[in-house]
Amino acid sequence: MAVNPAGVERAAVPGGNARRLALILFGPPGSGKGTQSKILVERLGIPQISTGDMLREEIRRGSAIGRSIEERMKSGLLVSDDLVNRLVAERLRQPDTAGGFILDGYPRTRQQAEVLLGLLAPAGWTAVVIHLVVNYNIIIGRISGRRQCPQCGTLYNDTSRPPRVPGQCDRDGEALVVRDDDRESVVRERLDAYRQQTQPLIEFFRQSDDVLYELDASQDPPAVLAEKILGLLPVKKV
Ligand SMILES: [Zn+2]
Repeated sequence: MAVNPAGVERAAVPGGNARRLALILFGPPGSGKGTQSKILVERLGIPQISTGDMLREEIRRGSAIGRSIEERMKSGLLVSDDLVNRLVAERLRQPDTAGGFILDGYPRTRQQAEVLLGLLAPAGWTAVVIHLVVNYNIIIGRISGRRQCPQCGTLYNDTSRPPRVPGQCDRDGEALVVRDDDRESVVRERLDAYRQQTQPLIEFFRQSDDVLYELDASQDPPAVLAEKILGLLPVKKV
């Protein structure tokens, strides 16, 4: 559903007054969001900014910020909105974001979303929010059909990559098992957590002046879904 398709400027204007794309991707576990990010990074030639990666990088560098992040994480605390916002603001000043960027895993809270929009508009960014929507029953079916060989680690799927002999590894005949992360109850919990966290953000973007698209990601193969996303963006493809 295109909430404000008329607001999209199509095709970059030669001469440099085109607005820069800030693509914000949302999608539950199992929606293929990671795959889409990768395809879009390549096709658009813009970097993906992952707050998870940035936090890990600060820790790795042992910076003052990194040490305080590490302490919070060790005591099971969330890293504060303020800190994450500062890291993102700093990252957006790097020259590789000049042509645009894709955000993954940010914003996570309404406060982060407000700060982000406050950064983007004055700097000439056009925010486009894409929500990959999937039928939860389809995701649960997809994930809970996964099986792994405990011996060699090969992954199977009851529907998309079944073993030749049901329940047995093709390579070594070992009995296949369901990984803990793929148990239906665990998948349901992750989906519920995602819905609780994301729904207020989607509402927030729906009411903002930015463009929000909700795309059904249940059926299309990744390449087809990526074309659909690219078709919505106010930029030239590379
Ligand atoms: Zn095996």
